[in-house]
Amino acid sequence: MSTTKELWVFAEQREGKIAGVVQELLSQGQILADKAGFTLAAVLPSADGAGLCQELYNFGAKKVYTIDDPKLADYQNDYYSRAVAQLINEKKPEIVLYGATTIGRSLAPTVAVMVDAGLTADCTELDFDVEAGNLLQTRPAFGGNIMATIICPDHRPQMSTVRSNVFKKTKLSDREAGEQIPYEVDLSGVPERMRRLESVHEADNNSIDLNAAQFIVSGGRGVGKPENFKVIYDLASELGAAVGASRATVDAGWISHHHQVGQTGKTVCPVIYIACGISGAIQHLAGMQSSDMIIAINKDPDAPIFDIADYGLIGDLHQIVPEFQKQIAAAKA
Ligand code: FAD
Repeated sequence: MSTTKELWVFAEQREGKIAGVVQELLSQGQILADKAGFTLAAVLPSADGAGLCQELYNFGAKKVYTIDDPKLADYQNDYYSRAVAQLINEKKPEIVLYGATTIGRSLAPTVAVMVDAGLTADCTELDFDVEAGNLLQTRPAFGGNIMATIICPDHRPQMSTVRSNVFKKTKLSDREAGEQIPYEVDLSGVPERMRRLESVHEADNNSIDLNAAQFIVSGGRGVGKPENFKVIYDLASELGAAVGASRATVDAGWISHHHQVGQTGKTVCPVIYIACGISGAIQHLAGMQSSDMIIAINKDPDAPIFDIADYGLIGDLHQIVPEFQKQIAAAKA
């Protein structure tokens, strides 16, 4: 329980690019660190992290622990967990936050076991109880029907994975000052149980990242069959939007999981979210209800999606969506 008064954010990078969720976690981490009186720091395992530190300072990190090793160029659980756990055991931070990304969801539980700490997965809210010194980690429970706030009073660090797009990014400036603290870790004895052979980017005729998209057009079971997703793709292409989907369509194999929005998919926060043929189940809403504007197209006037929609169009999406696309194309011409 004896710790350094620091709040850390795991600075996930892929191919030398910091993940967007890291900027969100630093922004929220700053609020929590101010409240708790902690120092905000980032932990950056990579082949050569010096060039990435400035971006982390700009989002509030006062310190960046860089762990440089060619074996850390790309994510590999054995190497990353050894490096991060060793640093945690030595420096003893109070709190460590990870993005609930594929990498964060693999790394954080492994590190939790290695440092004998708890972990709350997939948080959607974080706060700090100053009196008790506990991180208040809130996440959906029981199929999204309740929000549970979890504390970890007996072990340190307190650790959470946090979904993308639940916290706003707040960039302080382009020239914030911070301190790079290089940390050496010996990875020679770590068994290499996995090896990355190659990295293949998913081929998709809509490559806009859902997490970062300003506009999203999503299709649900009301689309009818896989070929009919063409109307969704066509409207998305007209708008420069990303394509989303409900779990029903993903489970049916109409579209890849990569497009799923919701509790077990992605959490998105676009300027406009257009839900086509989606009923509005609570698990879908969990992933998109913080969108700035929601437009719902559904033939059932009682569909729950209309309860949260800013604009609702009652009717057949196969007529409305192509008409919508035509009108937008005409307005652009
Ligand atoms: P439906 O509920 O079947 O709705 C289809 C809608 O289309 C209806 O409202 C209908 O009126 C309308 N429609 C039909 N034809 C037309 C037409 N021609 N024009 C216009 N409208 C039409 N779901 C998610 O989406 N994301 C998740 O991450 C997720 N996670 C889950 C996790 C758990 C633990 C569980 C139990 C469930 C989860 N679900 C998730 C599933 C969720 O409960 C719903 O089953 C799912 O969202 C329903 O998808 P849907 O709205 O496409 O289909």
